[in-house]
Amino acid sequence: MTRIIVCASGKGGVGKTTLVANLGLALVELKKDVIIVDANLTTPNLGLHLGIPLYPTTLHDVVKGRAHIRDAIYEHESGLKIIPAGISIKDLKGADPKEIPNAFLGLLGTTDIVLVDASAGLGREALSALEAGDELLLITTPDLSSVTDALKTAKLAEQLGTRVTGVVINRTEGKKHEMTRADISAMLGLPILAEIPEDKHVQRAVAKRLPVVHHKPHAKSSREIRRLARRIAGHPEERRGIFDFLLRK
Ligand code: ADP
Ligand code: MG
Repeated sequence: MTRIIVCASGKGGVGKTTLVANLGLALVELKKDVIIVDANLTTPNLGLHLGIPLYPTTLHDVVKGRAHIRDAIYEHESGLKIIPAGISIKDLKGADPKEIPNAFLGLLGTTDIVLVDASAGLGREALSALEAGDELLLITTPDLSSVTDALKTAKLAEQLGTRVTGVVINRTEGKKHEMTRADISAMLGLPILAEIPEDKHVQRAVAKRLPVVHHKPHAKSSREIRRLARRIAGHPEERRGIFDFLLRK
């Protein structure tokens, strides 16, 4: 059975695209067949994270009815598959995000997991991605404005019949003013599935067009993303190693 997992947030810039690329690779390491999809029709950048900005056929061609979604699947050297979006302005003309849920039906039965990078906010584009998913993974940073916006996204997903599985807190620094894991869970009424720390290796990896789980497999962020992948894939928790013990906060 194909699971369509949408990674969404209320606020932009919280780390969705970075997470989708890295979580996709971590799931491939667990022998899952995974397709990551860039559902940001207006500002796509998922391809950049895998070092490939340009593709001949994209999700834009699919929503315009010019190509079948299976013709827009590309395989990264890791085995991870990607459906990119077009990055030029002319791709936007005539591309209606309402077509996204329908287009995704063409992926059912072709893979284990479809991981969708949704656009932020509650606009038509974001709604279409939420509607297309079976499960929603909510991403937030540990601040009140980001969590408040995430709450709206969660409520909307429920109305659209998408199950909200839990929350990923990204970029935690352990500062006093940050909302705690317990505060965020209570405010959203959802379990916290992972807490990814602020990590300079993430930005360094993005600058090199390499996903951090490959660039720095032992970085704190990479280890937490792998732990999240195991959880999503239903694998038992790995025993924490000496690295985790030494680096725990
Ligand atoms: P979104 O897709 O939600 O808009 P991005 O994935 O593009 O967010 O990330 C926004 C910025 O935050 C990028 O510069 C990215 O490198 C950085 N970033 C994301 N996660 C982390 C992290 N855990 N530590 C440090 N920087 C991060
Ligand atoms: Mg993004």
